[in-house]
Amino acid sequence: MATNSHIEWTDATWNPVTGCTKISPGCKHCYAERLAKRLQAMGQKNYRDGFKVTLQPQMLEIPLKWRSPRRIFVNSMSDLFHEDVPLPYIQDVFEIMRRANWHQYQILTKRSERLLEVSKKLNWESQIWMGVSVENADYADRIDHLRRTGAQIRFLSLEPLLGPLSRLNLRGIDWVIVGGESGPGARPMDPDWITDIRDQCERAGVSFFFKQWGGSNKKKTGCILDGRTWDEMPQALVVI
Ligand code: SF4
Repeated sequence: MATNSHIEWTDATWNPVTGCTKISPGCKHCYAERLAKRLQAMGQKNYRDGFKVTLQPQMLEIPLKWRSPRRIFVNSMSDLFHEDVPLPYIQDVFEIMRRANWHQYQILTKRSERLLEVSKKLNWESQIWMGVSVENADYADRIDHLRRTGAQIRFLSLEPLLGPLSRLNLRGIDWVIVGGESGPGARPMDPDWITDIRDQCERAGVSFFFKQWGGSNKKKTGCILDGRTWDEMPQALVVI
């Protein structure tokens, strides 16, 4: 958990679960795994088990203690809908988000089937944004699963973008984030894939956020696309 996140589209991270297992090609260079191993080596107690899925109930009430409103990325170090996270625990996380309703919460999963399976048992308040990660067209059905949940704000994280997504169905989607992979061994991203996604968002009236080109030096490659930055946020967002 960190109060100040370096992630461009959020203010803070909150990790009531840590650890995960890889599920699709987008996981290959998982940043959370690298960081968890580093924190384990540094003796950080929440990472005693490295990247093994671990519930962290002592972290549950953190958002209640943050008095000023923030955009909070929930489980930047895990996947809340991992099969090893019991439904009652997911419901506990949702209950805290209901109680600490002065924040906005951003949840991101690759386990869209489980998300859909438990969706009806969750309390979807308007401050909860639900997103799925999609790295290429093979995983576009995650978007259909997301669309069928009760989430009031729905978003896509197309990062690391590993292939074209030329026929996105953006019905019911509020926000799209795109980014290239960064760090050692980063896989390349074709600029045409991004402009095509941006154009689809513009045609559909969906907010578009271009996070980064990525590569081995993401500071150097930056986030300028066609001469400008793209950092829209969901239009449905309730400003507090
Ligand atoms: S789902 Fe996310 S957190 Fe889990 S291994 Fe894949 S990239 Fe990492």
